[in-house]
Amino acid sequence: MRDGLSYLVCTPLLAFGVIVATSTRSQQEHAAREGAWQGESRADGRRRLERAFAPFLSAVGLAPRPLITLRQRHTNRCLIFDPSGGASWSESPPIGDAVATRSGEVVLGIQTADCAPIFIFDPRTRARAAIHAGWRGTLGRIVERALTAMVVHFGTRAEDCYAAIGPTIGPCCYEVGPDVLEPFRREFPYAEAMIVAPTASGRARLDLVEANIRQLLACGLSRARIFASGLCTACHPQLFFSYRRDAKTTDRAGRMLSVIGESSS
Ligand SMILES: [Zn+2]
Repeated sequence: MRDGLSYLVCTPLLAFGVIVATSTRSQQEHAAREGAWQGESRADGRRRLERAFAPFLSAVGLAPRPLITLRQRHTNRCLIFDPSGGASWSESPPIGDAVATRSGEVVLGIQTADCAPIFIFDPRTRARAAIHAGWRGTLGRIVERALTAMVVHFGTRAEDCYAAIGPTIGPCCYEVGPDVLEPFRREFPYAEAMIVAPTASGRARLDLVEANIRQLLACGLSRARIFASGLCTACHPQLFFSYRRDAKTTDRAGRMLSVIGESSS
C-alpha cells in the first residue's frame, strides 16, 4: 500500500533489481473518478492506460518508462519487443498474448480479470516475458512458447529463470465443462493433476496456476524459483476484478494491470 493505492509486488525478485507487480481495483476506481478511465483498451488505448495506471506505476517504482501492452485475444502468440523497431507499438499494439524483451527501457504489461498473468525473468541475460494465460492460452502452451522465444532470441537457459504468477481465478471457483476438460486431457498426460473433483455431469474445476506451473517445470525451471500469489480473483471482491464473478452482476468487469520492469533505483 502506498499513496492510497494497494498493489502486490513479487518480493523475491526485488533482489535481482526487477519489479513484478499487480494493481488492485483501487487504481481503476481512482482513475474512473478522475475521468482517466474509459473502459476497454483499444488500438489507440495505450496512452489512456498509461494515464489511468500512472499512480500505480509510480508507486511500484516503474514510472516514467513506456508501458508495452498487447491486444490480448486468448491466442498462444508470443511477440518479441525490440526497442529499435518497436516505436509503432505505441500507436497500435499488435495482437498477441505474450511478449518478451531484453530492453530495460520499457515496462511490459498484461491485463487480466481471472486469467493468469505470468512473468518469466532470466537474471543472466536480463531477458523477461509477460504472458496472459487463460484456459485457451494454457491449452496452447503459451508459457512454453514464451520461454522458447527467450531461448531462441536472447540465449536464455530455462534453469536460470524465475517465474511469478499473479492473482488468478482459483480451483475453488473456476468451474469448467467438458468443452474445456476434454482438450486438456488430450493435450496433457498430467491433466488430472490440474482438474479438481470431476462430477458425473462432466463439470469440474480447473487449476490454471498449477497447469502453468507444470509447463514451467517441463521447460526446466525449478519449483523453488516459481512464485505464485496464491490469491483467487473471484474470492477477493474488495481487491480484484473477476470476469466470472462480475459478469453475474451489473458491474462492468474491469481488469487489473500486472507489470514487469527493471527497478530504477
Ligand atoms: Zn476462489
